Amino acid sequence: MTAASHRELGSSIQQILVSDPAFRPVAYLSMEIGVKASLPTYSGGLGVLAGDILKSGADLGVPMVGISLLYRKGYFDQSFNSEQWQVEKPVQWQPVQELTLLPNQVTVTMQGRDVIIRTWLYEITGTTGYPLPVYFLDTDFDGNHPDDRKITWDLYGGDQIYRLCQELVLGIGGLRMLRDLGYSNIETFHMNEGHAGFLTLELMREQGYYDLEKVRKQVIFTTHTPIPAGHDFFRFDLVEKVLPQDFMYNLRKMLPNADGVSMTELGIKFSRYVNAVSKKHAEVSRNMFSKPEIDWITNGVHPGTWVSASMKRLYDLHIPGWENDPGRLIQAIHIPPKDIWNAHQANKMRLMAEIMEQTGRQFDPNVLTIGFARRAAQYKRADLIFSNVKRLVEIGAGRIQLVFSGKAHPKDDGGKALLQRLLNAAQKVDDAIAVVFLENYDMDKGALITQGVDLWLNTPLRPREASGTSGMKCCLNGVMNFSVLDGWWIEGWEEGVTGWSIGPLPSESELVRYDETQDAVDLYNKLEKTIIPLYYEDQDGWIRMMQRAIAQDASYFNTHRVVKEYCEKAYDINFIGM
Ligand SMILES: *Cc1c(COP(=O)(O)O)cnc(C)c1O
Repeated sequence: MTAASHRELGSSIQQILVSDPAFRPVAYLSMEIGVKASLPTYSGGLGVLAGDILKSGADLGVPMVGISLLYRKGYFDQSFNSEQWQVEKPVQWQPVQELTLLPNQVTVTMQGRDVIIRTWLYEITGTTGYPLPVYFLDTDFDGNHPDDRKITWDLYGGDQIYRLCQELVLGIGGLRMLRDLGYSNIETFHMNEGHAGFLTLELMREQGYYDLEKVRKQVIFTTHTPIPAGHDFFRFDLVEKVLPQDFMYNLRKMLPNADGVSMTELGIKFSRYVNAVSKKHAEVSRNMFSKPEIDWITNGVHPGTWVSASMKRLYDLHIPGWENDPGRLIQAIHIPPKDIWNAHQANKMRLMAEIMEQTGRQFDPNVLTIGFARRAAQYKRADLIFSNVKRLVEIGAGRIQLVFSGKAHPKDDGGKALLQRLLNAAQKVDDAIAVVFLENYDMDKGALITQGVDLWLNTPLRPREASGTSGMKCCLNGVMNFSVLDGWWIEGWEEGVTGWSIGPLPSESELVRYDETQDAVDLYNKLEKTIIPLYYEDQDGWIRMMQRAIAQDASYFNTHRVVKEYCEKAYDINFIGM
């Protein structure tokens, strides 16, 4: 059965198809899935990507189901104390307002106790009406031990045991729940990052006998982490305290000579297909794991989610059918420049209205506005642009204004210190250059900022940005990237055409150490000599670049292309007729 014929079956597809032996869906498992801002079940790029992939799956009629955890406490409400130190509060949200609770329950034994898991349903509806279910697993209800109720409270919270329990809920509980829901013919289990790796143990148990190849045939794995310290590792003496005996026995057999379980190694070893999320990231991952066969499928963003209303109106008018075939955005070079500019200015005004509402600051829609919004992880170097305040003021006074946003993980004091430095630096330049920080970065703020600024700044330490996706949201809205050559930007960058680079060109060799002290120097020079003059003195040239960013980059860095690649290379789903 092709994906297209599933699509035609229409809205009752889940009820009809779950029991149909010809329905062989892909189960997409992810520790976080971000569908929309009012469902606070994600912390950053990994979750947003998962949501975007499932949405494109729905648009394209690909038989997929998503599975993740329901985080009762959300991903915190952000504020700052008088020392500019981030303070977190739980998000007040009511799952019942967003999701449907299903009657199904399954049990997984952890730490000697039976933990009951139930699930909430969210249905994504594709552009053609195709429904794609996302299941959020939940342990917080009567019947569970008070400690076990907490397992699904916090995203990436707690200690190692807590993390381990969450990953058991996702991997083992997730599979049991799918079976209980009636999915008996899952063709492929897609593990989005290593967190769901224990799924392989449950597949082995289901089989009833030990056969690695049989497990491998059912699983594919996407790695997202380009540094060794970023991968979950659980020592066996810890795992033993949580996992039942029979699982422990198989786990040791699956990982001989190991003293613990690396979730990424589990993913790599027990998958028929493994991919990284950009070309560069594949090179890094091949080296890191000595696995030359690691492929790459570069990330994208979901067009309908991230395009602004004004840009969508333009595309609908000039490029019919673009939303379900975003490759057609290549024609954006023919949209009248004036219309592109006006649509962009509308986005900019919306951002500036929000800035006024939230901070009382008056931003000028005629000043070059630079944005930086993402998780406040140290490697992303949000404060790089402030590394020489004097120089920045010389270049930028009256000519640029800056918008920042981002949350540091509650346990990441380094990230909080970065935010503190950023807010202090912002105060220092504020007389000369307007700078605002918008609190509570989430998908809505992400959309507003990536649509409303003129230039998107991205300054990660190489090679830490496996892909990055917020810069792609910008391209979709005609906003240029000004970025270190890492992750996706190596593929999307054409100097002076789709945007600009910062610092050295990427090296062919993985072993080269970049001189990253030069990044700030290069950033200032290019801003002063190239970008600011172009913005103020050659508006036609600027708009031509906006068109090229859309045509060259948004036509490719979208999740419709990503899902098609997964279908062809990883899922074995036939795309003829789509
Ligand atoms: C798009 C998005 C991200 C991803 O940001 P990158 O750092 O560019 O990968 C993170 N968080 C939110 C809320 C987003 O919308």
